[in-house]
Amino acid sequence: MSKHPDLSFLREDTRIILSGRDPYRYGGSVNPPVYHVSTVLAESIEQLNSRDYLEEKGVQEMAYGRKGTPTSWALENAVAELEGGYRCLTYSSGLGAVTVALLSFLKAGDHLLMTDSVYAPTRKFCNSVLKRFGVETTYYDPLTGADIRTQLRPNTKVVFTESPGSHTFEVQDIPAIAEVAHAHGVKVLMDNTWASPLFFKPFEHGVDVSIQAGTKYIVGHADAMLGTVSTTKEAWHELLDCTGYLGQCSGPDDLYLAQRGFRTLAVRLRQHQTSALKLAEWLQGRPEVTQVLYPALPGAPGHEIWKRDFLGASGLFGIELEPCSEEALVEMLNGMRLFGMGYSWGGYESLLIPTNVQKFRTVVPWRFEGPLLRIHIGLEDVEDLKDDLNDGLKRLRNYCG
Ligand SMILES: *Cc1c(COP(=O)(O)O)cnc(C)c1O
Repeated sequence: MSKHPDLSFLREDTRIILSGRDPYRYGGSVNPPVYHVSTVLAESIEQLNSRDYLEEKGVQEMAYGRKGTPTSWALENAVAELEGGYRCLTYSSGLGAVTVALLSFLKAGDHLLMTDSVYAPTRKFCNSVLKRFGVETTYYDPLTGADIRTQLRPNTKVVFTESPGSHTFEVQDIPAIAEVAHAHGVKVLMDNTWASPLFFKPFEHGVDVSIQAGTKYIVGHADAMLGTVSTTKEAWHELLDCTGYLGQCSGPDDLYLAQRGFRTLAVRLRQHQTSALKLAEWLQGRPEVTQVLYPALPGAPGHEIWKRDFLGASGLFGIELEPCSEEALVEMLNGMRLFGMGYSWGGYESLLIPTNVQKFRTVVPWRFEGPLLRIHIGLEDVEDLKDDLNDGLKRLRNYCG
């Protein structure tokens, strides 16, 4: 792929349109072609032999399907550009991206510090595979900042962060954690899915390796699975090597869908944010609701750090309800007309699910008594969403009597 134009003097909405694209290389086609390829033929033995050298130099030339194609580079270069990393690689799912990132920076005998608010499958990976390979994980209070110092051990190699947590929405003090970690030669990894590459710039806050479940906002249409990992220049080779050893890559059509979704991320996110804030404010005033966990909401937990470090908020937040019976909750959820029930988020559609936090936490017990719901505000008309929620809360209250 030819060299990128310098986009650094342009604003973000323009950069997200231009980054990773090179239309005139492909006959003027606005979108990159989808390369379905495993074997890449060389025209001469010299060309075949030159590939290892080019790969080592980081030149994006096709050598073999698994090692990258113009389809994967279009997305990877765009995500690296917008997230602010040196380079980026893509994986078959967000969880795939998490596991490769962890394996890239850990070995037998190492110690990993993991936030207690982490995405549950990440926790399972640490407690099973990493444990089996001799890496010890201890969990820490997500609200720990510089105090992370007290948890470091001589063999600590990685502090893993996720901010905010995707069920409990604690906003972590990433700069404080990063400062302590770096002073001890420890790498900071972050699951940055909630904010997407646009609303939190991990590398400006000391993160070394940033992970996205591209399945969520990057794909944005609930029709493909994908993960990305971006790194600093210093961390790049460890990720690149480990990805190669593990044989990770993604399918061309999923990569294409993800880069296509990425072009409209800025406008979609603004709408998710506007609608989510409106509904979060409205929910905060409801008698059935004890607390709204949306960092963008003034007064909500984590709002101050969110305001300091983030550039915006996505459409995912939590609501804690007044204690009520299981039956009342069932009545509310089964009757929703617009909010679907299902895992994942970041698509154009609204979702509402109950979440069982207590099952996973090991360090900081969850303090709430009432049920916790996780809500994703999609791109529907916000008044229709409000009507649906209003009716749902009425069912809840009527059933509770
Ligand atoms: C969904 C999710 C993942 C995993 O992504 P998949 O593409 O579903 O594997 C990782 N981290 C967070 C915060 C997520 O929400």
